[in-house]
Formats: sequence, C-alpha cells, structure tokens
Amino acid sequence: MDKKVIILGAGISGLTTAYWLYKEGIDFTILEKKAEPGGSMESLKDGDFLVDFGPNSGLETTPLISQIAREIGLADEMVYANENSDKRYILRDGALHALPMSPPALIKSKLFSTKGKLRLLGEPFIGKSEEGYYQSIAQFVERRLGREFLDYAIDPFVSGVSAGDPFKLSVKSAFPKLYRLEELYGGLVKGMIKGARERKKSREKSKQNARMFSFKSGMQIFPKTIASLFPEKIIYNCDIKEISKSGSGYRIDYSGGMETKSIECPVILSTIPAYALSASVDKLDHALAKHLNDVFYPAVMVLYLGYKKEIIGQPLDGFGYLIPSKEKRNYLGAIWSSTIFPGRTADDKEAAFTLFVGGARREDLFKMSDDEIISQAVKEFAADMKIKGEPLYKNYKIWRKAIPQYNLGYIEHENYFAEFENKNRGILLSGNYRGGIAVGDCVKNSEINFKRIKELTA
Ligand SMILES: Cc1cc2nc3c(=O)[nH]c(=O)nc-3n(C[C@H](O)[C@H](O)[C@H](O)COP(=O)(O)OP(=O)(O)OC[C@H]3O[C@@H](n4cnc5c(N)ncnc54)[C@H](O)[C@@H]3O)c2cc1C
Repeated sequence: MDKKVIILGAGISGLTTAYWLYKEGIDFTILEKKAEPGGSMESLKDGDFLVDFGPNSGLETTPLISQIAREIGLADEMVYANENSDKRYILRDGALHALPMSPPALIKSKLFSTKGKLRLLGEPFIGKSEEGYYQSIAQFVERRLGREFLDYAIDPFVSGVSAGDPFKLSVKSAFPKLYRLEELYGGLVKGMIKGARERKKSREKSKQNARMFSFKSGMQIFPKTIASLFPEKIIYNCDIKEISKSGSGYRIDYSGGMETKSIECPVILSTIPAYALSASVDKLDHALAKHLNDVFYPAVMVLYLGYKKEIIGQPLDGFGYLIPSKEKRNYLGAIWSSTIFPGRTADDKEAAFTLFVGGARREDLFKMSDDEIISQAVKEFAADMKIKGEPLYKNYKIWRKAIPQYNLGYIEHENYFAEFENKNRGILLSGNYRGGIAVGDCVKNSEINFKRIKELTA
C-alpha cells in the first residue's frame, strides 16, 4: 500500500477534507485532473475586473469556513456582503420587484396579486401530502403556497441557486429542510417557529440567517491557499481511469501525461463529479456506475459583464434579480457583483454583473453558437436594466456539466451510494452530488468525511 488515503479531486470538498487530515497528521495524496486547485471555484483578475466563473460567494452556514480561513491566514482576505445588497429582485412583467422579506412588505408588494397573497395565508391549514417523498419542489410549493408563489418566487429561486427545474427537483432530496418542516411539524409556518428554537441549540445557521462571504481576490483563493499548505501531496493533470480491488485495499489507475500509473491504498475518498467517477468504477460495480451516470448535470453559461455606471438606468441597490420562466428570457438572472463585494471593478464609476444562462430549463440554448447566446443575453439584460450602451467588458465560461440536480429518483441513487460504501469498506463517495451543492455544504461534509477517514485509518 503506497499511501493511507487517496483523495480524488482538488475542489473545495477534497481540499477541505485534506486540510483536516493534514492537521491530524494522516498521510494522503490528492489526484486532480486540472492543472490547478479549486474545481468549480475559478477566479480571474482581468484588467479592471475580478471575475468569478464559479461560485461568486458562499453562505456561512458553518463556523468551519471562517475557522479554516483564519487558520490558513485568510482572515483579512475574507469579505462579507455589503449591507446594501440584502434586497433581491424578481422580474415580473418586465419590471424588477423587490422580494418582500416581511409581512408588511408582502402586503405592499406588487410582485404578487391580492389573490396570491391571500393564498399564502392558507398555508398553516394545509395538511401533509399523500405523495410521500416522491414529490417535486413544484408540487410541494403549489400545494402549500399556491401557483403564483411557485411561479414568481420558487421557480426563479430554484434556477438561481441550482440552475434546476422545479418540476424535476425532488423536494426531499434538494430541499430536505423544507420537506422536514412538513414531516415533523405539519407545515412551513409552524415548522419555522418551532424549528428556530431547535436551531438555536445547534451551532449551524439556516441559509436565510447565514452571512454571505467571499474573498477580496475572489473565491478561488480559498482552495488555492489550502492547496499551498501541501503542494507535494497533490498530483495535477491526471485522470482517474479505473478503481479496482487489490489485496485488502484498492488500486487506482490514472493517466499522468502519456503514461498510465497506479497507486494502491486502503482508503479512497472520491470528490470528483458523479459522471467523472462513473466510468472508472464500471468493472468494480456496474450498478454504481449506472447510478453515478444518471445524476443529471445541466450546462450553464456564466456571463460576466462590465459597464460604465452612468449608462445604467436601474438603481444598483441589491444583490441582483432572478427571472421566472414565465417571463420568457434566455438568461436566468443577474448578480450585481460590484454592489455585493468590494474590488470587483477598478473604481466606483464601473459596475460588474454575473449573468447565468441555460440550466436545466434551457438546455436548448446551447444549440446556438456562444456569440449568439451572449448577444441575446446582453440585449435582454440591457432592456431589463435600462442600460443605454454596450458593455465595456465581457467574459464567459460554459460549464458543460455544471451542477448536480437532486431530481426525483435521486433518493434511489443516494440509497445505492450508501449501500455501496457499506459493501466496500474504505471507499467513500462525496462531493457536491451528495449532501448539498452549496460551498457551505461541501465544507460541512468535509468534517464528516474526516471523521469517517479517521475511523478507517485508526
Ligand atoms: C457556475 C456555478 C456557480 C455556482 N455558484 C455558487 C454560489 O454562488 N454559492 C455556492 O455556495 N455554490 C455555488 N456553486 C456550487 C459550488 O461551487 C460547488 O458545488 C462546489 O464548489 C463543488 O465542490 P466539489 O469539490 O464538490 O466539486 P468540484 O469543484 O467539481 O471539484 C471536483 C474536482 O474533481 C476534478 N476531477 C474531475 N474529474 C476528474 C478525474 N477524472 N480525475 C481527477 N480529478 C477529476 C475536477 O477537476 C475538480 O477539481 C456554483 C457552481 C457552479 C458551477
């Protein structure tokens, strides 16, 4: 056996787990396909603009994030979202409406009709569904809160957070906390009141109450700095080919340059995407390969735009906006990046925006050329934001397989992943297709992975 632990993937899931192992003195090696650490976290300083092609921020749902940042010397680099960016907008009938965050704001809001608002009041009187766990988030929300709330709050929210389709996403798998509120307390309002008391006792924060963070030089500095603690333990530019049993442990064949190499170990933590792991475990467990391959990852274009502020008619007093499917736009929404965090533009006369295009609802868009997609999105964005003129900066990246979708049927995958781990002691399946896609979820899961690895290597 060459090493005690092999970690596949140097994204945030692999690196934060490696960080705990490093502190504990447990030996490990990381195999990574790209030439640099970070995975989906990719930042670029380009002239006046600081671009995040992956996550532009995270929610501090666990104290582990600031703990690691402090310990690796990034405390002064960490930035929290500007207070002015609390407001979120939704596009309806071509105009931006602030998402109401309190009952008085809801009463005044023009985002929902009077009928839609009255329907929300009925939520505490709606019973549990007969459907059990096999419900989409759309079914769940329409039943509890009405169709208008689904169309103008949940539909845009889902595409903004996961680029997903609310009619396909499983409420139990993708929104487990929401599902549990109904299961445990019989409804959302009842559950929020009682659940808040229970959360107070734990050290975790709900997503609504967590602070939004990033770093002065963008998100990638976080994984990069972790990786810089143990450069000799990371092998870049390698592709996992096959995982097989070997003696009392496992063998990993991987390509490094022109050659295929192999490494043997008693413990493997995989944090590479489900589709990437699939082919390499086909001989080891065909059913696992199939389950992994069936996890759907839609394509997303991240389009970054910079403008002179003086040509923008819309006040930039918030986080940005999301677009309901009913509004029939080609893009999913826009984050007002330079309002949220400092240093995204050279000065206050410029503004930077991150647009998301495509996702599970609009995979058809990728039949067009990149230039066509961009020019349509820029045109629609300019109309929605009352911009008179062209962007002074444009950059983009298409993630062909962007974010795993916890769709209906995901629970069967999840059950099989657990069954596989029980049958194959020493192989752990992790990464953002298990236990949540948010950066905070990945960091929380790293602590769980670490404890499991510690037990396996004891
Ligand atoms: C466009 C976009 C925007 C997002 N926005 C947000 C946001 O604002 N807030 C938020 O909280 N989350 C956001 N997310 C989600 C979040 O960024 C990811 O879920 C998280 O970073 C995933 O980390 P990971 O380590 O699990 O996986 P990854 O980052 O995917 O890392 C996996 C690593 O495995 C490597 N790999 C792949 N195949 C192989 C192979 N065969 N051999 C070896 N290595 C391999 C990859 O190169 C990669 O480095 C966003 C994601 C995307 C794509």
